Amino acid sequence: MSLRTLAIGAASVALLATPLLAPTAVAATDSSALRTTTVYYDTSGAPTFRDAIRAGAANWNAAVRNVQLKESSSGATLRYTEGNDSRGSYANTNGHGRGTIFIDYTQAKQYDKVRITAHETGHALGLPDHYSGPCSELMSGGGPGTSCHNSRPNSAEAARVEQNWANGLTVDYAPSRIYADSFPVLR
Ligand SMILES: [Zn+2]
Repeated sequence: MSLRTLAIGAASVALLATPLLAPTAVAATDSSALRTTTVYYDTSGAPTFRDAIRAGAANWNAAVRNVQLKESSSGATLRYTEGNDSRGSYANTNGHGRGTIFIDYTQAKQYDKVRITAHETGHALGLPDHYSGPCSELMSGGGPGTSCHNSRPNSAEAARVEQNWANGLTVDYAPSRIYADSFPVLR
């Protein structure tokens, strides 16, 4: 049996063992990461940015352990969409894995696409904007300008997300809010 088969088997067992949860909402991924919560995301509404979304998610997955992002075409709690909106990109999220992220075409032409998607995903993981931060900070968004191509969270941002997800989904849900204009459109 390959490692991959073992991992899939473990995930199936975890799903069977948690029948009260929505089937694709959350599952412990394997016995070595019992505290890991999986957030499933859907890119079908943002085909232009699928690669950027995946790259941004991979950056988060490499930086944190308590939560991992995984693409799924069904049952996702986090959805990405795309289009033209004068308000720019935004994340409408409860900060704990649920919500909708909108990527604006104009912003995506001006700013690093992966930085945008990773930044907006940061909102869905519980981080607020901090526009005055340096390029090395992901949540500084468009603050450092269009020349900033960093798409990885710094250690402080990763630590905060780890803390946000230390108890999995056992949190008091805040109402969803919209984090808008993260990357101001230049005119
Ligand atoms: Zn933002």
